[in-house]
Amino acid sequence: MTTIVDTDLLSDLQRFGAADVSACFSCGTCTATCPLSDNDGTFPRRMIRYAQVGMKDELLSSKELWTCYHCGLCSDSCPTEADPGEFMAAARRYAVASYDPTGLSRILYTRPVIGSTIAVAVAAFFALFMYAAHGPKDAASLSLFTFIPEGLIHWTGIAVMVLMVLAGVIGVGKMARGVARREGVTLQGTIGSRAALGRSVAALWSSLGVESVGQRRYRDDCKDDNPAEPLYRRRWLIHALSIWGFLGLLGATILDWGLALTGIKATGTPIPLWYPSRLLGTIAGISLLYGVTMFMINRVRKVNRAAQHSTASDWLLLVLLWITGATGFFIEVALYLPDAPAWGYWVFLFHVAVAMELMLLLPFTKFAHAMYRPVALFFYALASDRSKQAV
Ligand code: SF4
Ligand code: SF4
Repeated sequence: MTTIVDTDLLSDLQRFGAADVSACFSCGTCTATCPLSDNDGTFPRRMIRYAQVGMKDELLSSKELWTCYHCGLCSDSCPTEADPGEFMAAARRYAVASYDPTGLSRILYTRPVIGSTIAVAVAAFFALFMYAAHGPKDAASLSLFTFIPEGLIHWTGIAVMVLMVLAGVIGVGKMARGVARREGVTLQGTIGSRAALGRSVAALWSSLGVESVGQRRYRDDCKDDNPAEPLYRRRWLIHALSIWGFLGLLGATILDWGLALTGIKATGTPIPLWYPSRLLGTIAGISLLYGVTMFMINRVRKVNRAAQHSTASDWLLLVLLWITGATGFFIEVALYLPDAPAWGYWVFLFHVAVAMELMLLLPFTKFAHAMYRPVALFFYALASDRSKQAV
């Protein structure tokens, strides 16, 4: 197989936040320190070596790139201050931008002023688009879907989802093809027999259930958290609450649609707080808001290695998540007030516009790692299973 050398790889990675890793002499201290490094003893220094010699394809097709949770222990122990933890984070940003066919991700990561302008323009577009079709504001009760038609939100949401899924599938597909080729994983070997299918289902459960939702390695193996730190400030829990909150809100939205489709209740009609979709949405909203707020505070205070360097794109994601969560609560409060507040309509418009933008930009921001990491962990679980069988 021919190896194509990209002489600009190292300097390009630095645009995504990597330190100058040319001083790394592959001593292996980071590998010895990393709680997630497995038995082959080359992670994370192998990734740095790829960057030093310009092996772009090898770097991008490494499943190990996505197994790191940026605890920073390796950076603390590196004798040359190559900051391997930040290198891994920068390499993941670089990977997301490399898989993205539109080039938007690269702009958001490396051109903060243009990226921020695009972000504001996209939100403004959605707000104006929705407002152009607005109806009357009922002063007696907060009638949100009279103000912005439900059908418009519904179909715009579907269009945004389709675009998001398309961009995600293209990017993740590219990544999965590269990793599969590298790992020698074929379709036949994955689903070609009952035994192969069983192993794939187990790997899928490990990547999605145990690791992505259950956060097992982050929680149990990634020993960056100070054990003296109270649970509510532990990094893994903040990360997990953000993920659980986002998934919960997605679940509440789907549940609400399901109830409307089955005719149990119309979307947007007032419901008590204990109603399943409202209860799930409220709990998930609190979880998301808490997780994202803690992330923001930690980044401002630079409390750990992962929070030392923030790109504009990192902030964009946090801000969009926070605004979506907070405005959701404002709307909920407005709905329960005895007199319909006029501000409720404007908050609703803002909420819808930002939520649409959040969904549309998902494959291009840091949130993209929620799509790439499970796929990499799937291959990781398959490889672990293979090496267990070989023993
Ligand atoms: S990154 Fe630092 S600790 Fe890791 S191999 Fe290079 S010099 Fe050693
Ligand atoms: S940041 Fe933590 S998990 Fe990532 S390579 Fe370094 S020690 Fe390992």
